[in-house]
Amino acid sequence: MIRGGMQDWPLRVHTILDHAANVHGRQEIVTRSVEGPIHRITYAEVSRRARQVTAALRRLGVQQGDRIATLAWNTWRHVEIWYGIAGAGAIYHTLNPRLTDEQIAYIMNDADDRMLFTDLTFVPQLERLRDSCIGKRQIIVLTDRAHMPQTGLDLLCYEDLIAGEDPETPWMEVAESAPVGLCYTSGTTGAPKGVLYTHRSNVLHSLTVQAAGVLGFNALTSVLPIVPMFHANAWSIAFSAPMAGAKLVMPGARMDGAGLCDLLDQEGVTFSAGVPTVWIEIINEMRRRGWKPDRLERVVIGGSACPEWMISTLEHEFGVEVMHAWGMTEMSPVGSAGIIKPEVAQLDEAGRLQLKLKQGMAIYGVEMRIADDEGRSLPQDGKASGRLMVRGPAVVGEYFKGAGGQVLDEQGWFDTGDLATIDELGYMQITDRTKDVIKSGGEWISSVELENIASGHPEVVEAAAIAIPDEKWAERPMVLAVLREGSQLQPEELRDYLRPRVARWWLPEQIRFVDALPHTATGKLDKKVLRQLYGGVMAQ
Ligand code: AMP
Repeated sequence: MIRGGMQDWPLRVHTILDHAANVHGRQEIVTRSVEGPIHRITYAEVSRRARQVTAALRRLGVQQGDRIATLAWNTWRHVEIWYGIAGAGAIYHTLNPRLTDEQIAYIMNDADDRMLFTDLTFVPQLERLRDSCIGKRQIIVLTDRAHMPQTGLDLLCYEDLIAGEDPETPWMEVAESAPVGLCYTSGTTGAPKGVLYTHRSNVLHSLTVQAAGVLGFNALTSVLPIVPMFHANAWSIAFSAPMAGAKLVMPGARMDGAGLCDLLDQEGVTFSAGVPTVWIEIINEMRRRGWKPDRLERVVIGGSACPEWMISTLEHEFGVEVMHAWGMTEMSPVGSAGIIKPEVAQLDEAGRLQLKLKQGMAIYGVEMRIADDEGRSLPQDGKASGRLMVRGPAVVGEYFKGAGGQVLDEQGWFDTGDLATIDELGYMQITDRTKDVIKSGGEWISSVELENIASGHPEVVEAAAIAIPDEKWAERPMVLAVLREGSQLQPEELRDYLRPRVARWWLPEQIRFVDALPHTATGKLDKKVLRQLYGGVMAQ
């Protein structure tokens, strides 16, 4: 057998920061610090500090494969510790502070985290967690001596911890298949399960995501990830931005519309990414101010379905291009994105908008198909809806510690738990979560489609559709909607709006207007809570 002649260069995540430091050393990471002021640092400096983190972790006895938790906002220090932990051969484990105390305790204990890096904001939460999960775990607060809090907890100060360490400490040379990151799934169904990323999966995923066809980063891009680093790897941005030499703008703890708009504007942000709920706030703020952040050109919206009004408002009212993307923690997380094909570029405005509502096409490194319950492939005709199956080098193969048992079928396909159609051009559209679909008289009603259509009404800000029990049909749809401020819309008027747009039997049995809808810790509609609140309402 003839051998290949190229070098075996392991795909380790710290090569990304090395590249940023060597080639884009002066590029900045700008943060609205948790302490308050705007903080500026370059990739070259962050690389030196990350190596100090590696050295400090070694001094504290951290071994290869140890899990190191982070409970932190998007800041330059959070970036440093990800790379510093990776450089020590350990595993960064992002905890989502929006989860309940019980969930955090469960996840920390399941992951068996060795220590925890945290922001000042979360110290009160940790005081509450002291007995259930902190125990002997060392807590390091991401701040300097002057800002260290008064507390009964035994805390280390981050800046003191790394101050004396060598900024040229070498990274540990682990195999590219070694684990480097751990993130638990949001657990909207069942107990949360850990997804354990490898160096290789993170590097390959970031390479494809930052490419021109997808996020399209370069050294002139200024990126503000609103999506937190504790949610699904921040959609790869802490890797893909330095890989491309893009400027990173980090919002820290200020995630409100006004704080984000200011930062987007002041730092010349050209690209941002986040879930639909944050864009509601930003759109409201931009409307109040009557302007958009000056250089903002493009945003990626995903994590849940992006409503039609949001795409058209951002594009037409504010001139910001929207790319709709889909993914999941199990996919590192990006799976598909609204890449524009020539056939789509030729469409008129209305046609393009309809395509943007779809979740886009598989990115490189993701194989995608839809299947029936027996695993047989369904036609890609934009009509047949089936289980969305995926395969690729950045797709989960098994959960942490084998939770949930075997997750791949014999051909290596992972069932995403989403139902979708794929059209002739390859555009995928989520029709539902397997568990959320409404089954009326044996026929399926897509809750997502009903939500999309209901939120297309100009007075509706957000809508949710759930199943309610019905004696005759087993289940019937109920729509809950949040209206624009001051709206006088009546439920009957919304039903009239839906009537010509959906099949007759899809018309919601009940429509209720509510002040707010519950969301999960990752910003998705919390159907579990909605079902608890309203699932007992009889349709008739
Ligand atoms: P998570 O792992 O928390 O990111 O959740 C992944 C799930 O979020 C997916 O399986 C989908 O059900 C949902 N999701 C993500 N992006 C979208 C999107 N653009 N449209 C509809 N659902 C989405």
